[in-house]
Amino acid sequence: MHTDSYRHRGLRRTLVEELRRKGIRDERVLAAIGTVPRHLFFDPAFQAHAYQDKAFPIGEGQTISQPYTVAYQTELLRLRPHDRVLEIGTGSGYQCCVLLELTPQVFSIEYQPVLFERTRKRLAALHRAAHLFCGDGSLGLPQYAPFDKILVTAGSPTIPRPLLRQLRVGGALVIPVGDAHTQRMMRVVRESEEEFSREVFEEFRFVPLLGQAGWNE
Ligand code: SAM
Repeated sequence: MHTDSYRHRGLRRTLVEELRRKGIRDERVLAAIGTVPRHLFFDPAFQAHAYQDKAFPIGEGQTISQPYTVAYQTELLRLRPHDRVLEIGTGSGYQCCVLLELTPQVFSIEYQPVLFERTRKRLAALHRAAHLFCGDGSLGLPQYAPFDKILVTAGSPTIPRPLLRQLRVGGALVIPVGDAHTQRMMRVVRESEEEFSREVFEEFRFVPLLGQAGWNE
């Protein structure tokens, strides 16, 4: 089934209440989760899993992140209505569509060509207009910088310097940093051309950020 329905909207309301109970406070983020039909980012055979608060395989060894993680990272971005935002790790395109509910200027880059192509077609079919790219997002998108916000949806061994350089002064990078098993969520703010401040939050478990400034293959 490729449509939204009364039943799916009900399941989303229940999911939003669950995320609220788990500590998500930003009403705009909760409204975005309540709007984007997560089941349309799943293979039809697995749509019954779409409104559980769980990550799920999307092929090519990758996952669609848990809704709590999507909401947590989006809340940390503190998006303003016209922020220019870069997402590293398009995956299924779900997080990208949540971002599009909050700002029209969304750039997203995916490393795996098969996922990129599948998601490009999915977003076109859903009439969602993000700027999608295929390549090594650990290097950012220098030709489209600077960005107000950068979101990394894969676990990184360090904070990639190219991403810091592509932040506007006053802008923020949200990124999980750690080893192959667990990562701490970090929010890095560019305070001036040369100064950055850093806050460290909860522990998560992401698939690895590959590429030159990630886990080099
Ligand atoms: N945001 C996605 C969603 O809503 O479905 C979930 C992302 S999944 C947890 C992480 C994604 O990061 C995978 O699709 C993976 O292929 C991608 N990835 C890993 N390294 C990357 C890199 N260097 N550049 C771009 N994407 C990368």
